[in-house]
Amino acid sequence: MKALQRNHLKMKFLSAAENVGVARLTVAAMAGQIDFNLSEIEEIKVAVSEAVSNAVLHGYAGEQGYIEVEVIAEDGVLRVIVTDHGRGIDDLARARQPSFSTDPERMGLGFSFMESFMDQLEVSSVPGQGTRVEMVKRPGGGVGGHGQHD
Ligand code: ATP
Ligand code: MG
Repeated sequence: MKALQRNHLKMKFLSAAENVGVARLTVAAMAGQIDFNLSEIEEIKVAVSEAVSNAVLHGYAGEQGYIEVEVIAEDGVLRVIVTDHGRGIDDLARARQPSFSTDPERMGLGFSFMESFMDQLEVSSVPGQGTRVEMVKRPGGGVGGHGQHD
């Protein structure tokens, strides 16, 4: 049992598409320190990719700015916070609806994936200032899970 282990990592990188994979792999390495199974780690990787892609594509929309990813592994729970200082979201409730996108070329499913793959999702945003996405996941805590483990 690794419940008392604590680890904390903060990274800051430019909003290049190439850095989505860097963030995804780094968070997966942190998740590997908690007893998530492989499919849970895949879910975490998808959720992180979606949040960081959103910061790159929508937050900075082709401009360069910094994205911060903070990862906290504590008491057997993984917390990931993705922050950008880009354009922000005017209507958060609308943005979080499945299939809503401001880009007609996109599916509008990023927030839906984050919500279904993680146990908790909190989004805050200030237009013109940026967006913060906080996600929490615990092993065995997802859909069909029992919310606890040995
Ligand atoms: P997909 O994720 O399927 O490629 P999408 O990115 O448009 O499409 P979501 O990830 O669900 O869909 O995001 C919905 C909408 O919320 C986006 O179209 C965009 O308008 C807005 N949005 C999301 N993240 C940010 C962000 N970090 N900064 C500014 N706007 C954002
Ligand atoms: Mg998206």
